[in-house]
Amino acid sequence: MTDSTAPITQDVMTIPRKLPEGPINIVGLTREALRDTLIAQGTPEKQAKMRVNQIWQWVYQWGVRDFAEMTNLSKAYRTELARNFVIEIPEMVSRQVSADGTRKYLVRIAGDHEVEVVYIPETDRGTLCISSQVGCTLTCSFCHTGTQKLVRNLTAGEIIGQVMMARDDLGEWPEPGQGTGDNGPRLLSNIVLMGMGEPLYNFDNVRDAMKIAMDGEGISLSRRRITLSTSGVVPEIAKTAEEIGCMLAVSFHATTDEVRDKLVPINKKWNIATLLDALREYPKVSNSERITFEYVMLKDVNDSDEDARRLVQLIKGIPAKINLIPFNEWPGAPHQRSDWDRIEKFADIIYKAGYASPIRTPRGEDIMAACGQLKSASERARKSRRQIESEAGIG
Ligand code: SF4
Repeated sequence: MTDSTAPITQDVMTIPRKLPEGPINIVGLTREALRDTLIAQGTPEKQAKMRVNQIWQWVYQWGVRDFAEMTNLSKAYRTELARNFVIEIPEMVSRQVSADGTRKYLVRIAGDHEVEVVYIPETDRGTLCISSQVGCTLTCSFCHTGTQKLVRNLTAGEIIGQVMMARDDLGEWPEPGQGTGDNGPRLLSNIVLMGMGEPLYNFDNVRDAMKIAMDGEGISLSRRRITLSTSGVVPEIAKTAEEIGCMLAVSFHATTDEVRDKLVPINKKWNIATLLDALREYPKVSNSERITFEYVMLKDVNDSDEDARRLVQLIKGIPAKINLIPFNEWPGAPHQRSDWDRIEKFADIIYKAGYASPIRTPRGEDIMAACGQLKSASERARKSRRQIESEAGIG
């Protein structure tokens, strides 16, 4: 188990006057950082705000990646921008489509690392499940990502870039001059930070990326359509409300510390009582903005009637809904999914106690895209090829 006390972050808030070598990627810079960088690159201070607005709209409202197409900027200025900046997003390496329409993307980021991203279409909305780390700092026992050591945090550009990549794939950028949503209901209407990694161990980059997603002049997603899921990094929970303002979900999964210590090891640092105290204090919680308690249904581990009754006791006083997740198996997984009648009985106890307890329909199982199944396939492949080569005495 890696040292979970040392949160790892890469702060890209404000670009220092000494600019990095080579062109700077605009994707992921906050408005303030973009303004600072434009000025540092020679844009007159009094024009900077207007230039930020113009560039922002081209990049985040219309999905343009070529400065030459930014026709409300002078040719000379576009040339200057192209000399000092790039507009880059993670590269889509593969795209799998499940029989149920779920799409799983493998995307490559700087350093040749890869993360998985999942798009889940539904009748009334389309949800993108995005990653915040390559691998994970933590080792939750039911999670495939937890078996992949943390490689690094994603930058804000690599996080929002997943949203832009998916919009490219869905063809969801309005034509220049058009408003978001002019072409009918949005295909990508919700974001969940439930992919690879613990988002609160990469707070600054997640915050900046979600601010870009919520910005009304660009992708313009409502904060209530963005849900951040944490395994329980208590010191960062209140900041999520204060600095991001999105909806909160908690990987809860157990009703005793003894069991949660095994399933969600961060519980050894911040146990159930400490976590619940932080949730009761969550600045944004209300009946219209309930906290989602995620509860994976594991056979004979956490699925008894007693667990269900204890769960509703524990969360008393917190405006909440409980999302029951039938466990999605993955190669080598140490758990099994609870039987369906057990899941329904569990849901019934919670429902009768007054809580919404939807059972999450597994999506994309046929392409290993369901909750808890994500892992960078490349990691596994690379190992075996090297092994093969070394066994064969090559390289
Ligand atoms: S559930 Fe989340 S925090 Fe736990 S190992 Fe998986 S990705 Fe990491």
